[in-house]
Amino acid sequence: MLEVMRIPALSDNYIWLMHDSASGDTVVIDPAVADPVLEAAKARGWRIGQIWNTHWHGDHTGGNTAIKAATGCLVTGPAAEAERIGTLDRLVGEGDSVRIGDHVAQVMAMPAHTAGHITYHLFDDRMAFVGDTLFAMGCGRLFEGTAAQMFANMQRLAALPDDTQIYCAHEYTLANGRFALGVEPDNVALKQRMEAVEAARARGEPTVPTSIGAERETNIFMRARDADQLAERRAAKDAA
Ligand code: ZN
Ligand code: FE
Repeated sequence: MLEVMRIPALSDNYIWLMHDSASGDTVVIDPAVADPVLEAAKARGWRIGQIWNTHWHGDHTGGNTAIKAATGCLVTGPAAEAERIGTLDRLVGEGDSVRIGDHVAQVMAMPAHTAGHITYHLFDDRMAFVGDTLFAMGCGRLFEGTAAQMFANMQRLAALPDDTQIYCAHEYTLANGRFALGVEPDNVALKQRMEAVEAARARGEPTVPTSIGAERETNIFMRARDADQLAERRAAKDAA
């Protein structure tokens, strides 16, 4: 059994702490910072054995050095961004796999937000750690890639099983959903989801993980008909 814990950090980041009870291994995904991660692991009696980074941005790697110093863990991240991250022990890319105990995560290259961005996909466990590629009702900004690349990423993710849990790295759901409603005002699933999201946020509750099934129904970037339409929507959202 894999257990996943959400650790809020900075203004709107989520760091994910994943524990495998069978092997005792614990993985931190995208540690923005170190202290709350080390405290959470200690409180649960979990020993951190690995860090998995999705991309080089500081709000995904800022805790690497201190967590590694405190635990001696192995740091895995995108080979294409090794020079920018600096703290990686193991470099991975498309087609590679990594493990937590007996659970396997396939590495999927998802360039667009950054040039070397990767996703960790645990097919058997129906989980994916997508960093800043896919958000609840949104997608990452195109800092180092193209709309065509992001469109391809959305199509690949949309092809995963509907019950795949999507662990993204930010709580951007409310703003994403409001923008999406302007694009698809008649989308009933989107309207219903936004009512639930508004209520959850009003109670101070998180809205992720999300799922592929929910995104297929409500994510206007995943639902874009082609790269041009995704580009238009992304540009409009950036300007909103
Ligand atoms: Zn980022
Ligand atoms: Fe980020």
